[in-house]
Amino acid sequence: MRIAILADIHANLDAFIAVLRDCENRGGVEEYWFLGDVVNYGPDPAKCVEIMRRLKHCAVCGNHDLAAAGKISTRLFNPDAAAAMEWTIKQLNPQDAGFLSALEQTAVRGDFMLLHGSPRDPVWEYLISKGQAEENFSYFSSKYCFVGHSHEPLIFRLDENGHTEYVNFNEGIGQVIGDFRLIINPGSVGQPRDGDPRASYAILDSETSMIKLYRVTYDIGATQLKMVKANLPLRLVARLEKGM
Ligand code: ZN
Repeated sequence: MRIAILADIHANLDAFIAVLRDCENRGGVEEYWFLGDVVNYGPDPAKCVEIMRRLKHCAVCGNHDLAAAGKISTRLFNPDAAAAMEWTIKQLNPQDAGFLSALEQTAVRGDFMLLHGSPRDPVWEYLISKGQAEENFSYFSSKYCFVGHSHEPLIFRLDENGHTEYVNFNEGIGQVIGDFRLIINPGSVGQPRDGDPRASYAILDSETSMIKLYRVTYDIGATQLKMVKANLPLRLVARLEKGM
């Protein structure tokens, strides 16, 4: 089975559609796994939720989804994120909010755990260092774990000596899902922060036991224009073209 792994769409419809097209061009997938934060920052929260609901999927919530559903306070957000969230909440109908509200913090599919932040703190922890990853391997019992939240594509592998190492997870290079436990972040669809502004996502092939990262260009200018028209914070508009 081929599965697309998408995290941090952040209401960026153009990036989301570009990724769905890219999936189709690569032969399609049977299922989509979403790792949280479908809304906030971007200009199309309702449309992104609608598309996500229609796809055959398994999804968990991120911190922004919880805030949009009224389950956590925006006082925990920085001023730009809080301002964008205020606008986002107004764009969502009760069904959208209900869908976000019903998302769980973790999900398990076969050997994989899905969550947004980290196994020990699925909502808030940014899992980016080897030290953090090493600690987090003891917080989940599945063999592998998919995370989002940091908006950076990363794979951590727990080796036979109990040490954690970074695994090369660059565009188009297949990585084997094998004997060692892994924590995998497919990067962000709608607001990449690794210096590459292209949308980031991964395809998992359970038959070949391989995962591959893909980067997809989309019309960043068109998204930025919609954000300016919606009066979303300019810092959020500017960061899209930098991928930071
Ligand atoms: Zn996010």
